[in-house]
Amino acid sequence: MYAKVIVDVPTGGTDRPFDYYLPEALAENASKGMRVLVPFGQRKLTGFIVDIVSETKLEKVKSVSELLDLTPVLNNELLRLGEWLATETICFQITAFQSMIPAAMRAKAMKKLSLLSKREKLPMNVQALFGQADEVDWAQVPADARLLRDIRNEAEQGHLTMKYALKDQAKHRKVKAVVIQRYETPPATEKQKQALLFMAEQYGEGELVAIQILMKQAAISRSVVNTLIKNDYLQEKEIVIDRNPYTDAEEDGNEEKATLTSDQTDVLAKVKKNITQSQATPMLLHGVTGSGKTEIYLQAIDQLMEAGKEAIVLVPEISLTPQMVERFKKRFGANVAVLHSALSVGERFDEWKKIQEKRVQVAVGARSAVFAPFTNLGLIVIDEEHESSYKQEEYPRYHAREVALWRSRYHDCPVVLGSATPSMESYARAAKGVYELLSLPERVNQKPLPDIELVDMRLEMREGNRSVFSTSLLEKLRDRLKKGEQSVLFLNRRGFSTFVMCRNCGYVGMCPHCEISLTYHQRDGQLKCHYCGHEERLYERCPSCESAHIRYFGTGTQRVEEELQQLLPEARIIRMDNDTTRKKGAHERLLKNFGAGEADILLGTQMIAKGLDFPNITLAGILAADTLLHLPDFRAQERTFQLLTQVSGRAGRDEKAGEVVIQTYNPEHYAIQLAQSHDYLSFFKKELGQRKQAGYPPYYYLTLITFAHPNYATAMKAGEHAGRVLRSNLGEDAIVLGPTPSPIARIKDRYRCQCMVKYKDEPALTELLRELFTYFQKEIQQDQRFITIDRHPNMF
Ligand code: ADP
Ligand code: ZN
Ligand code: ZN
Repeated sequence: MYAKVIVDVPTGGTDRPFDYYLPEALAENASKGMRVLVPFGQRKLTGFIVDIVSETKLEKVKSVSELLDLTPVLNNELLRLGEWLATETICFQITAFQSMIPAAMRAKAMKKLSLLSKREKLPMNVQALFGQADEVDWAQVPADARLLRDIRNEAEQGHLTMKYALKDQAKHRKVKAVVIQRYETPPATEKQKQALLFMAEQYGEGELVAIQILMKQAAISRSVVNTLIKNDYLQEKEIVIDRNPYTDAEEDGNEEKATLTSDQTDVLAKVKKNITQSQATPMLLHGVTGSGKTEIYLQAIDQLMEAGKEAIVLVPEISLTPQMVERFKKRFGANVAVLHSALSVGERFDEWKKIQEKRVQVAVGARSAVFAPFTNLGLIVIDEEHESSYKQEEYPRYHAREVALWRSRYHDCPVVLGSATPSMESYARAAKGVYELLSLPERVNQKPLPDIELVDMRLEMREGNRSVFSTSLLEKLRDRLKKGEQSVLFLNRRGFSTFVMCRNCGYVGMCPHCEISLTYHQRDGQLKCHYCGHEERLYERCPSCESAHIRYFGTGTQRVEEELQQLLPEARIIRMDNDTTRKKGAHERLLKNFGAGEADILLGTQMIAKGLDFPNITLAGILAADTLLHLPDFRAQERTFQLLTQVSGRAGRDEKAGEVVIQTYNPEHYAIQLAQSHDYLSFFKKELGQRKQAGYPPYYYLTLITFAHPNYATAMKAGEHAGRVLRSNLGEDAIVLGPTPSPIARIKDRYRCQCMVKYKDEPALTELLRELFTYFQKEIQQDQRFITIDRHPNMF
């Protein structure tokens, strides 16, 4: 037998499977979709078996060295999806396959292991290590090599796939447990007898029970257990249990269902109908914030679970997950797997395993959860479908929405796209009848949407207010403090970057490698480049004119917090930004504290805009609505409208009415005006007109091709070549722009230029892009990525 293997070749000169002989011992267990270790040149590399055949055209083939899995990590559906993904997004198949499995199983994790074993002078070949493991004196082994021993334990328990991959074993919860070893002679004391009897009655022979649990249940002390172990009545063992990242969330799984409103009932009926009739219908659920969309997902899933089907729920990467996850855990208990980037590599592996082994029927997660290896999908939900984080900004550059639609056709199940502010693309499809449009125009319990006040910051300035806070916002904050109600304040980080400028000569601190200003970080007094990580100390004198009048400008969350604290000394403030949420679980904890009323004001960046659902928030403030408006992005208006709507949705979700203050320098802009009047439909129409005029989605599709090289002329030459090829091969409707220097013309010492293709229907384009990709891939040297192709780019 021969295996056709897609090999993990780093620079990927080619994208076809290689034939390898399958030795008899391996052939028995091998199947499509398993990972293997194969010889490739001088090295051994990992790869995926995509087919097993009985003959090969080649005269000489090498043999597969090892199978890395006992069961396939990619089933037939995912193998096909990977092929499609590679074709559509223009990348290598190996890249697509790797992105569909947990990080712990990817080649990188394996490399880490072999590095470790080299350093510890342990056998390189993992197989050998496992063979000889008993000969290793573990006491002699340095601390971090204990990882290897843990991996061995793991393997002994049958989790064979983990042996190569798990790097954060420490997070694995180990629990001491006992099992009955001998029962005949009664133990010495009454307490001991009682404990043993309890064990025998409750657990019988051969069943392990965690010591902590035994102590609690039999009401005995640890010393009783220890004596029983010492006298060989009980045998002590260590068991490894799944790391459960959500120990705090109640997992009772019996939360009451809400009685639905009549709008909700209608929507749910339509969703259920498509589920039971196995209709691969995309549905767009347009529902204002707080209209009960999530409740509909929960009830639809509840029903399909009874029919033995499975569901994927995608939520945006940032924010919201703690509360969202809690809701799912409360409803479905342990029947939910959570896939989120805040989890450790090992935790994510455990969650993935639950899906693969059919221990759960629901997966809730960010973008990549769309690859959850379910085999009987009944529904895919994409909540906040307009979110830009559903698009992956590295290879494979896929959009989770498109992958979901592909899988829905494969499984004949519906997709629900939910949003209060649907993307222009999705709403246009719904308006054309391509998607079924469902709507929830009112909040649950008919709560009115909050009143929104627009504050013209230019007037504030003229009246002498230099503060970030307008008089009106400050007054409202004071009022909330008095009443013991809570406020959220939103600051868009991107518009408030803190750059360093010389007041004498106008010099601005720039990154020496990228065309971008450096950002001042007060915490460590460093200037940092957010693109390449370059750091330097804050200057005391201007590097250009030596003036001492050089200082940082702009306002970061930290500065705003300080100012706010000065203005309102009695306010308790929680700040949420990248700095305060870096630690694992910090995000969750801060929200919890705020929810528990431990602060009056929550001040934060993008991450607080979504999903917050606290009854006591009655005021939401947006400090500078226009910062997004001026980005060089055709979606700037759309993003502004979405953001303002979302932040507004945080206020007055419960009994008390909410109020919103939007501070802006452009109070007459339509995105801001229409957000103020909660008028999505008018915004959609107005924006659609703009898009049509400018030739952007949803009227045209876009493909962005970027070339990067240390030499400017080389990058431009490549762009010219691509431009020529595209112009001479595409139809008349296609518009090819460029090459032009990219908006950020240099990153990490590489000059960047780009071509943009605007098109409506170009069946030949995919093929053409593939040819360009292959052509330029040959020129990659030393990791200098030369060409990047982005179908349907987020921003440029
Ligand atoms: P959305 O996802 O549209 O923002 P949610 O599903 O989160 O809305 O609902 C908002 C709030 O209303 C939640 O606290 C939810 O528990 C509650 N809720 C939803 N549906 C109902 C209902 N039919 N009756 C009472 N409360 C409801
Ligand atoms: Zn200067
Ligand atoms: Zn840089």
